[in-house]
Amino acid sequence: MVKEVQIVKTGIKIPLAKPKVGVAGKTGFWRITRPIVNYDKCNKCFLCEIYCPVNVIRVEPDRGPTIDYDYCKGCGVCVDVCPSNALELIEEE
Ligand code: SF4
Ligand code: SF4
Repeated sequence: MVKEVQIVKTGIKIPLAKPKVGVAGKTGFWRITRPIVNYDKCNKCFLCEIYCPVNVIRVEPDRGPTIDYDYCKGCGVCVDVCPSNALELIEEE
């Protein structure tokens, strides 16, 4: 089922699907890289939340992004779109 999600800063509502546990478990299980946030650099622009293809980032206006690593696939799209270089992709241990 598609849920409507509000982008807080702009007020624009866009339809987004939420990830769920699949037959192979949570999709973050096979991730080999993970994005980490440098909160000092983040300008809360919401681009990472908008562009994440699996809808696992939430940006709070007063804090910045939170990433749900249960379902983040480590694709790096958020890192590529971040205008402040506040996101970095590191290897999983
Ligand atoms: S690495 Fe990919 S899946 Fe994970 S939060 Fe960034 S855009 Fe989303
Ligand atoms: S794209 Fe970068 S600057 Fe914008 S909210 Fe995400 S981490 Fe912060």
